[in-house]
Amino acid sequence: MSVRTTCPYCGVGCGVLVDTGPDGAVAVRGDPDHPANYGRLCSKGAALAETIDLDDRLLHPRIAGRAAGWDEALDLVAATFARAIADHGPDAVAFYVSGQLLTEDYYVANKLMKGFIGSANIDTNSRLCMSSSVAGHRRAFGADTVPGTYEDLELADLVVLVGTNLAWCHPVLYQRLAAARQARPQMRIVTVDPRRTMTTEIADLHLGIAADGDVALFNGLLVHLADHGAIDHEYIAAHTTGFDAALAAARADAGPVPADVAAFYDLFARTDRVVTVYSQGVNQSTAGTDKVNAIINCHLATGRIGRPGAGPFSVTGQPNAMGGREVGGLANMLAAHMDIENPAHRDRVARFWQAPAIAAKPGLKAVDMFRAVADGRIKALWIMATNPAVSMPEAGLVEAALQACPFVVVSDIVAATDTLRHADVALPAAGWGEKDGTVTNSERRISRQRPFLALPGAARPDWRIICDVAARMGFGSAFAYRNPGEIFAEHAALSRFENAGTRDFAIADQGDFDAIEPFHWPAPDRRFFAAGGFFTPDGRGRFQAVTAAAADRTDGAFPLTLNTGRVRDHWHTMTRTGKSPRLSQHLAEPYVEIHPDDAAAAGIGDADLARVETALGAILVRALLTRRQARGTIFVPMHWNDQFAARARVDTLIPALTDPYSGQPASKNVAARIGRFAAAVYGFAVLRDRPALSPALSPALSPADYWALARCAGGWRLEFACATPPDDLAAALFGPDAATIAYHDRAGGRQRFAAFAGDRLVGALFLAAEPVAVSRDWAVDQLQARFDDPRARLAVIAGRPGPGLVDRGATVCSCFGIGANQIAAAVGQGCTTVAAIGEALRAGTNCGSCRSEIGRIIDAHRLEAAE
Ligand code: SF4
Repeated sequence: MSVRTTCPYCGVGCGVLVDTGPDGAVAVRGDPDHPANYGRLCSKGAALAETIDLDDRLLHPRIAGRAAGWDEALDLVAATFARAIADHGPDAVAFYVSGQLLTEDYYVANKLMKGFIGSANIDTNSRLCMSSSVAGHRRAFGADTVPGTYEDLELADLVVLVGTNLAWCHPVLYQRLAAARQARPQMRIVTVDPRRTMTTEIADLHLGIAADGDVALFNGLLVHLADHGAIDHEYIAAHTTGFDAALAAARADAGPVPADVAAFYDLFARTDRVVTVYSQGVNQSTAGTDKVNAIINCHLATGRIGRPGAGPFSVTGQPNAMGGREVGGLANMLAAHMDIENPAHRDRVARFWQAPAIAAKPGLKAVDMFRAVADGRIKALWIMATNPAVSMPEAGLVEAALQACPFVVVSDIVAATDTLRHADVALPAAGWGEKDGTVTNSERRISRQRPFLALPGAARPDWRIICDVAARMGFGSAFAYRNPGEIFAEHAALSRFENAGTRDFAIADQGDFDAIEPFHWPAPDRRFFAAGGFFTPDGRGRFQAVTAAAADRTDGAFPLTLNTGRVRDHWHTMTRTGKSPRLSQHLAEPYVEIHPDDAAAAGIGDADLARVETALGAILVRALLTRRQARGTIFVPMHWNDQFAARARVDTLIPALTDPYSGQPASKNVAARIGRFAAAVYGFAVLRDRPALSPALSPALSPADYWALARCAGGWRLEFACATPPDDLAAALFGPDAATIAYHDRAGGRQRFAAFAGDRLVGALFLAAEPVAVSRDWAVDQLQARFDDPRARLAVIAGRPGPGLVDRGATVCSCFGIGANQIAAAVGQGCTTVAAIGEALRAGTNCGSCRSEIGRIIDAHRLEAAE
């Protein structure tokens, strides 16, 4: 029978059905009955089965790098934390946790720190994701309440997508929106983003505002609404405060309105059912909270909130960011949406927990927490299910802080991350498929994650590890849970405790934990605030007077604005998606998107390597020239790290500037410059076995050079570039026993090597004085080809398909491995719609994540034909 569980990636929270065959093979498909996705999955969800093997797993506790037993490790963690607290007070310790944790893990971690250790020094990587939305909600609504549901996107007549690349980052929600638009073509979609992302493909209107131009845009909208009779005075009078001050502040921002912005304002003003969706482009800013409130102001002013098809809608990045908010996993929150600053709330939670030491004040938010680690205030730090050495701003300084910290504990599922290399104690946690508990998605829907795999090695669920440490610190009776169901029941009971409708977050008793079906809190399909009922002291929603701040951080030395974000097929720091060959093929290298004119000015050609630099340092990435990127701006994805590339951690370049209310770092507006990285030799290789990049290749590839490694079908692909020609690299990569054939073009500076064992390719290596011009996907295919005929081996050396063979081109459809050349050829043969391409090639017919890209190839082909 299928196991019903939930995808562990983004905040859409798709239901997944898992079937395990008699041979142990696992098949994953979308759950047709789950109300978040109704059977759909994106490319990441569809490839989940490729990420559950035990390669690279952390399977046993380690102390100072050596294997240890659980008792020894847990004793050491508990004793060291207890000693730090005894010697320096409770604020000398900290937990840094994650939206990857299940609600039950989160709940006990928060309870231990805030109720029993007596500090609020627990913060979460959700701080980097949506804490500005939390702060904006609390300012406007009096609680961290998401007013609407996913269905609102389908019911709206206008959907405004602000700072959100929904097509890549919340793909199933995007697919639902696209389907609704197809069913109701009169629906209008506006995108607001400095980048023309794949999401703009669906837009009727795209506003390419400058970085952090959102407050000015929505303040202008508020003024327009007021001046054009679109204000709902009745709603404002009955349910809100502060409108006049907010409008006056908005008027102070008034300036010339470009025609496209005026068209947006008109559309918004005359459309009753409007949903404004926003995510990291709004939140990750020094003005993130003000942006959220500028958006909410417009919805309060028109009374378009909490009604079907109307409302502001924050979508979260992580699978359980919302669950973390519910348990109070942020340093400035308590539990069950209660406030740590409120003495009555603290008293209530303390009585419920029978807590000996309820935290009396907010703890350190993520950036401040790592600063406290760096300057020695934090003596013991426990990191759970996250990788701050990659994902935090000033990541290099974070790493230095970890190195300097007297005691670092890391719970994780993988054996090697950039953070784990600094752990004094490493604790093997349960992974997706092994974990048992609940998550909450962006629309307040709680779903079960259910296990279908046995715990491997000595791995344990996070909740149990935390409870075991709590018991060793003397708090055993408060953490004596036998299973996650007992924790969930307590969490739900706290949400109801002395509530009586005064708090938004309330979960009814769900009965049998194993049988829980996906459900909305506080009630099925409940929306908030259509008739007021805010959670402020006077029950009124609060307009916030916000004004736009200067946002251009560039100067003569750093003239470009660097933006960061995610790609379609990878998740966070690639610890899971990096295991999947098909997910690793869509974009196999770290890259910088740059407008062709800016690239030309910097002497950078397509596929060159580029050095991206800010005041904090430099990284090396591949240049991707595209007119989607506005002049004067560049974009670098946040995923790549030292496990997959030589120097591509973009967060080492990001200064830790934060929003004053939420503490969320600004990751999308950084002054930068770019230059061409001139290498003496460029290389590309496909390899059956993972190369030992360190130390085996390091004598040949000096530390200053570029490399990027990705899984592919049948092995690995490696890109690299060297300032000095490498010495005998083929032997280092292929090993001494492989039968190697070689081709040297001394005049052209090209060398090619292919090594075979039996009739299979062990590896192929291409070296050139310029970026290697070999079809990557064709070369990857050779790893799975048979070479019975020795003459076929020459095609590998030639670096191009032999007669009758096809070069698929860059992968577009990950599910079926369809490349850009195949799609272009089909367009040339008359397939001029995405549906026709699907019929001909199957591309885009499974998860649908590539449908925008297919559309773009069709459009490009049409343009070419018209020229
Ligand atoms: Fe997972 Fe994709 Fe659904 Fe997000 S949209 S939950 S990544 S399947």
